[in-house]
Amino acid sequence: MSLVAPVVSAPGARSAEEIAALHRHRVDKAVAWFREAAEGRTPRLCPICGYRGAFSPVRFKTETWCPSCDSRPRHRLLKLWMEREMRLAPGAEVIHFAAEPWVRGWLEDRGAHYRTADINDKFELQLDITAMDLPDASADMIIANHVLEHVDDARALSEMHRVLRPGGQAVITVPMIEGWTETYEAPGLDEPGRRLRYGDPDHLRFYGRDIRDRIRRAGFDLAEFPAVEPDVSTHALQRGERIFTGTKL
Ligand SMILES: [Zn+2]
Repeated sequence: MSLVAPVVSAPGARSAEEIAALHRHRVDKAVAWFREAAEGRTPRLCPICGYRGAFSPVRFKTETWCPSCDSRPRHRLLKLWMEREMRLAPGAEVIHFAAEPWVRGWLEDRGAHYRTADINDKFELQLDITAMDLPDASADMIIANHVLEHVDDARALSEMHRVLRPGGQAVITVPMIEGWTETYEAPGLDEPGRRLRYGDPDHLRFYGRDIRDRIRRAGFDLAEFPAVEPDVSTHALQRGERIFTGTKL
């Protein structure tokens, strides 16, 4: 049963019955297609846990979830960035908001002093990223993977800049649309509105490519690590998703 009642106004348009039948046909085809694609058509390799095989769907996205270690595309991209680009001196102070479990072992093996942080008390540091109870210039890396879209990002970026030492890095990912010049945010949207416009009721905006200006405005020197082929196919990444790194000069 369709939840949306069809309205037909143009002369010669399909009848309500024809529309309902065609709509049903399209829905059935899409569901069948999704069922097949959701099984995972191509074996992928998880750079975090080494699993090779079918990846599981998440919501509408097929081949997204590593069924061995629960990683999602942004986690796998972070691992590739760490392997290829990250430079951390032994003893470096790393603070990780919304932390995934695998990061600790990997960074501690490389000599980092690693601590998890979040607004709730389930992590080592209970911190509000927009007002961190930490001294100036006291950390070498702050990782905020899909955090900024939940908070006042200007305050969060300014706080990250304050807490980092010169040469320290903010490591940032956000949901964004590269084709948008400007970030979309409509203050005052209710929960259904946020779900519709941002794809998630807990998000406060959907970033456009001006995310770069927001990071630079906080004083950071910006670099990017995008998901490109052949990594996208090999590791089931999201095409064009990117890790932004802001270095405090
Ligand atoms: Zn995995």
